[in-house]
Amino acid sequence: MLTIDCHLHVTEVPEHAPEWWVREMYAPWGWDVGSVNGSDIVEHLDATGFDIGMIQGGDIRRTTYHPDHPADHRVFVPNDYVAHQVAQSGGRLYGVAAMDPLRDIPAAVLELERCVKELDFRLLKLVPTYHHYAPNDRRLDPLYEKCLELDIPVMIHTGWTATINSAMEFQDPIQLDDVGRRYRDLKVIVAHLGYPWVDEGVAVVAKHPNFYAEMAGWTAWGPEILAGALVKLKELGAIDRVVFGSDNTDARDLYRDARRIAREQGTEITDEEMAGIMGGTAAGLFGISA
Ligand SMILES: [Zn+2]
Repeated sequence: MLTIDCHLHVTEVPEHAPEWWVREMYAPWGWDVGSVNGSDIVEHLDATGFDIGMIQGGDIRRTTYHPDHPADHRVFVPNDYVAHQVAQSGGRLYGVAAMDPLRDIPAAVLELERCVKELDFRLLKLVPTYHHYAPNDRRLDPLYEKCLELDIPVMIHTGWTATINSAMEFQDPIQLDDVGRRYRDLKVIVAHLGYPWVDEGVAVVAKHPNFYAEMAGWTAWGPEILAGALVKLKELGAIDRVVFGSDNTDARDLYRDARRIAREQGTEITDEEMAGIMGGTAAGLFGISA
């Protein structure tokens, strides 16, 4: 079965993002993260044992701000750059469409359509906390409707980030419930499963049959929290709707340890369930076959 990492970032520093912004994002962990291009991601996939990676850029120019660098807010990794990295990857990478919807909603809808139909991208990424909108803001409806028409899922960032100008009020995954109630057929990947609002993330995924849990970046939080989430998702019948994302980290130990902790607590995450998490479920979701 294919293994798929569905949450990876490509960024060239400083062409696509100022150094202060990258430093601020990883400040709590003191990580020194520099430029990452498509071939770096393929190396990462090889090192961590994944066949396929889904890579994303993004456009956060409108809301990026630091008082010491007021003119230095250009955070923009274009979809065409992502497509170029995909084209050079020998079939290892797939593109994720990203844009700033509030710059221009009709333009964002057209760009999504172009990314899917012309560039063969498989997913839309939205980042409400970075863009200062609620995920259930009615202005986004045309984008959700275009996802349904194109039959692609939308991955929505939920949960915390160290980026100071992100808006925490738009991080709680409960705000996705309204999206799920209004668009029952929309496939939604709850990125980061809302950490630290993990119980809310589990609840919203378990409730909506087309919602998926994804725990990218949880190497920062440790295996106990992941074990707790996996056990709850299994108890609520949603373990077959978990997809793997790494946020460019090596999460092998994290998942192995979480599985051991769950077992010690009396819940077995089976080999079949693990294979689904590591790629089987994502392959179906993104239309990727070996
Ligand atoms: Zn990410």
